[in-house]
Formats: sequence, C-alpha cells, structure tokens
Amino acid sequence: MSIEFSERIGRIPVYPAADGYALDGPVAMLASNESPYPPVPAVVEAAAAALAGANRYPDPSNTALRKALSDRHDVPANRIAIGNGSCDILLAAGEALLEPGAELVYAWPSFSVYPHLAAASGARAIEVPLDEAHRHDLDAMATEITGATRLVIVCNPNNPTSTALPLAEIAAFVERVPRHVAVILDEAYVEFSLLQDPADSVELLAKHPNLVLLRTFSKIYGLCGLRVGYALCGSETFRTAVDQVRQPFFCNAAAQAAAIEALKHQDEVARRVERNLAERTSLVVELEALGLSVAQSHANFIWFDVGENEPEVVKELAQRGVLVRAGGALGRPGALRVTVGTQAENERLVETLGALL
Ligand code: PMP
Repeated sequence: MSIEFSERIGRIPVYPAADGYALDGPVAMLASNESPYPPVPAVVEAAAAALAGANRYPDPSNTALRKALSDRHDVPANRIAIGNGSCDILLAAGEALLEPGAELVYAWPSFSVYPHLAAASGARAIEVPLDEAHRHDLDAMATEITGATRLVIVCNPNNPTSTALPLAEIAAFVERVPRHVAVILDEAYVEFSLLQDPADSVELLAKHPNLVLLRTFSKIYGLCGLRVGYALCGSETFRTAVDQVRQPFFCNAAAQAAAIEALKHQDEVARRVERNLAERTSLVVELEALGLSVAQSHANFIWFDVGENEPEVVKELAQRGVLVRAGGALGRPGALRVTVGTQAENERLVETLGALL
C-alpha cells in the first residue's frame, strides 16, 4: 500500500525548475533569469549581521522592510505585503482568492507558477494565448472576464517571452476590469523594461484598489538566494488576506536585512540595468547574425525559436556547460529562453550555439 494523497496533489503541476546547480566547473548559468552579479558587499554584511541574531524569530510584520519600501515607493506601509520571494505572495493570493467555481485569467505562455494557483484551489484557469509578437493580448483577456473571475494576472514584462506592453495599454485594461476582481501585475522584471519607469505603474494604485504590483528582490537586486519579494497593493485588504493564509515568519531575518540594505544602493541598480541592456543588445545582434529571430526583450533574458531540435539543442548546450531553458518546459516547444549573463557567458553561449546550429 502506498500513501494516499489529496486529490489536488494530482492536479498541481511540478514547477519546471532548471537543473545543473550540482555541475562542477565553470558553468554559464543562463537558465533561471538570475543576476550574474553578486550582491554588493554592504548587502552581504547586512545579511551576515542578521545571522548573528538567528536565535530570535524574524520580525513577523517585516516592519523595517515595509517602511523602507514605503519610503521608496510612496505607498503606505499597510498596503505593502512581503513574501518569501514574490512566488510566496502569488501562491497566497491563489489561496486567498480562489476556490472551486472561481476563475483565474492569465496569458499563456507566461510564468509557470500561475497554473499552480488554479490547480491548488480547484478554480478554473483561463489561459489566453499571446499575440504573434509574443505579447499579452489584453483585449482577448478582457473578454474572458466573467462573473466567476476572481483574479487576473498580467506579467509585464512577460516570462518566458521577455516582451512587454506599454503601461498605457495596461492602464486601459485595468480600467476595464470590474473592481471586485483582483488584478496582479507581475513586475518581476520591470526594472529592465525600456517602455516605462518602474515608478510609473505605482501611480495606478491610487485609482485602482483592486490592483496589486508584484515585485521582487530576486532579479535586479540579485538576492534570489535569500528569497524576498513584495507587493504594492491598491488596498490593505489584499495584504491582510495574503498574510492570513500564510505561516507566521514567512520572510527570514537575513532576507529582510539584505533587502533593506539593497534598497539604499539605487546607483548600483542603475548600473546593473545599464550593463544588462548593453549585454542584451549585443547578444541579440549576435544571435540575429546566426539567423535567429529574437523576440523584443524588455527583461534580463531573451526568447527565440530554434525549431524542433530544441530538446537536443538544450541538452547539447548543457553538456558544453551552458544552461538555458527549453521552451517545451515553459509552454512553447521549439523555443529557448536564455538569461542575459556576463559578457563572457554570453560569448560562450553564442559560440556554442553557433557551432550546434
Ligand atoms: N514572477 C515572475 C514573472 C518570475 O519570473 C519569477 C521568478 N522566476 C517570479 C515572479 C518569482 O520570483 P521570486 O519568488 O524569486 O520573487
């Protein structure tokens, strides 16, 4: 006899995590949209200092971090939710908003955690195909909103396709969503977008109490190993709901301390954005020279088709120490998602891929 699990465990998709973390030698880690640059020393020191007090639980209210984020974004601290990564807030939103009979609308392909929300809750997932330019089709998404819809997720810039929509189009879409339907605008990569300033979307919160901007310290701040994300909410009720469904102390002390310190280094953030943009631009030029057609990227990764040999290409690249993500695992067989790395990593990718194709 084997253990009998709940029915929902059979429905929940297994997150398609990248492997290769155990590989020895110099591996180009271009599979998980991480920052290739380590945190600045002051951030590492802040996390280390917090460890010295690890015999105490972390502040369960994340008071200092919410205050720092409130000062930075000019959003009241009571409308800022913290998470053990922004994924934590997403999953909590699913738990707080969804149930059998409810509907969740998102684009597809998009971030692979979204299908989990419906599967875990028993709600119905409405997946709206991206347009031909791999962007959200907001008109099509709007028509899918019904009386049963509880949550709409817009990923801008979109993972895995790297594309973004101008904020004016997002704003017009949010305008069309009824006020009792929560809209999560997942902005994990917003700092890399050339279409807007990250502060621009924050202005929408004043008008839309049902809007939530999901942000993370995992990407531009380079802290994904510590797991900390946040949500800027149009109303306090969203924050209290996601806090209610989670365990206390969901964000550890080192993560809170590192995030607070990281916010003080906006000059470094700006430098990293610049560096990513320069690397992204030359990477795209080099891949296009190989005859590849690369989607218009507004993120720290790029997206292109390699055709039906995609699984072999991914495998061969991995064998040569270059880890990328197979589109097949992300909803579009034939495509590759490649994180923009350091100049050396990008050159290695181009060289290896060039030889393979
Ligand atoms: N949203 C999107 C679109 C992502 O790509 C990711 C990470 N891959 C996340 C949210 C979650 O990031 P984290 O939990 O590390 O904050």
